[in-house]
Amino acid sequence: MQIKTKIEHKYHIVLLYSGGLDSILSAKILFEQGISVLGVKFMHPFFHGIQTFEEKFYYEKQIGINILELPTDNKYIKTIIEPQYGYGSQANPCIDCKIYFLRKGWELAQQISAVAIATGEVPGQRPFSQRSDAIKLIEKRSRTVDRIIRPLSGKLFPQSKAERDGIVNSEKLYSISGRSRAIQLKLAKKFGVTRFESIAGGCILTDPGYAKRFLEAREHNEINIETTQLLKIGRHIRINGKRVVVGRNQKENEILENSFSTGKFFLINPERKGPVVLVDGSAEDKTVIKAAEILARYTNRECIDTFEVRINAPTGVTKIIIPNTANPIWVDKLLIKI
Ligand code: SF4
Repeated sequence: MQIKTKIEHKYHIVLLYSGGLDSILSAKILFEQGISVLGVKFMHPFFHGIQTFEEKFYYEKQIGINILELPTDNKYIKTIIEPQYGYGSQANPCIDCKIYFLRKGWELAQQISAVAIATGEVPGQRPFSQRSDAIKLIEKRSRTVDRIIRPLSGKLFPQSKAERDGIVNSEKLYSISGRSRAIQLKLAKKFGVTRFESIAGGCILTDPGYAKRFLEAREHNEINIETTQLLKIGRHIRINGKRVVVGRNQKENEILENSFSTGKFFLINPERKGPVVLVDGSAEDKTVIKAAEILARYTNRECIDTFEVRINAPTGVTKIIIPNTANPIWVDKLLIKI
């Protein structure tokens, strides 16, 4: 990965920063020891939300460290689609994902002459990637053996080089393990941390609803950056093998229209009654007609004789009229909702 941002060689440690409470506390614990920390946040597409510049500034100020946001590359997406070590309870390939982040983070640390890479890891918190065999595997594959500092749980691990060299005081690290957050919440109080993105960071791959959609899309070889975002919104239906997405509210309709309609069939009622519907750009006519019926299904059509649907196709604009006698109840009964 080519780091374009010029980073000064003034940091002792690079911290993998997720925005969750554990990584914020880890920064605070190191900071308390007078260690200069650069937080690195990988901007992967599976965050629950979108962090604005103002929020980044707020967190930097609250934590007291600089945060460098780095993009993930295609190799990361490939890792998520075909993880060597499989998925956790949902679509979260945590072992492969951590190997990727640690390896990239440590490469950056070496470039700026930092001596270690820190994580907010707490053993036993996530059974899939925090078993001792998984931890050892992750260290080995990411080439970070002896280089990881774990501020929240360091006392449970053998000392790393930076601790033996006296750069990090092991006595001031913690020995937290397990899924309870009680100690972290006490520490948050101690350090005056009042706001964090989510208690454990916000990875949507651990969300059962998103995971189901993701794995279904993966089966159809549809995963790319755009799909990972599209899967976050709307009602998804598969017809004749093609994805149909229906906005569930005004905000989703706007996002579908403004961010995802290029290259797809974009269906609306000209009077803007009902939702926005998107259909894969390679769909056949019969699929698009079904999608128009779906649009009618999700529209209140009382007192209307006919219902018009305008179709912006990748090749031009057309329209179809759906008689109000049509009862596309099949949408509910026959389709596989994903
Ligand atoms: S929870 Fe998500 S971001 Fe975190 S390691 Fe697992 S897959 Fe990666």
